[in-house]
This record gives sequence, structure tokens and C-alpha cells, in this order.
Amino acid sequence: MSRERITIGGCPKCGSALLTCQHNHFQNDELEIHSWEHKCPDCGFRQTEAFRSDDEDEPFDPVEASQCPFCQRLANDTPDG
Ligand SMILES: [Zn+2]
Ligand SMILES: [Zn+2]
Repeated sequence: MSRERITIGGCPKCGSALLTCQHNHFQNDELEIHSWEHKCPDCGFRQTEAFRSDDEDEPFDPVEASQCPFCQRLANDTPDG
């Protein structure tokens, strides 16, 4: 499990400079999950999106999952090991 959070600012609701973009990555033998969250500490604005390798409705694309669906930044995880 890796977690990475950066402050990006530009809240779509209140314009706060404190809006954060967080990326979580989980992986084991059978399952891989990327989740993204934008959150504003000033007005409580929040949006989330998760990409799961076991999602039957949507095919899992690791390239797409490694990019924030809201601000399009790329995940900056360092590989384990
Ligand atoms: Zn806000
Ligand atoms: Zn983002």
C-alpha cells in the first residue's frame, strides 16, 4: 500500500489553494486497486474515483489507473523493492 498526497489548490467549489490530490495504490497477487481523492479542507468538497483490477464492469487499464481522473497528474509511486 502506498499513499501519496499533494496540495494542488484550485478547489472547484470555493477556489481554495489547499485542495489536495491523494493517490492510494494497493496490490497483491490477484488484486490491484488505484484510488484517487480530491479533498478541500476549507469547504469540504470531495470527489473520489477507484480503479480495481477485479471490476467486471470496466476493464482495468493500469496506465489509465495511474493517472488522476480529476487533475490528470501521474502517480509518482516508487516501485517496491
Ligand atoms: Zn473548497
Ligand atoms: Zn488529482
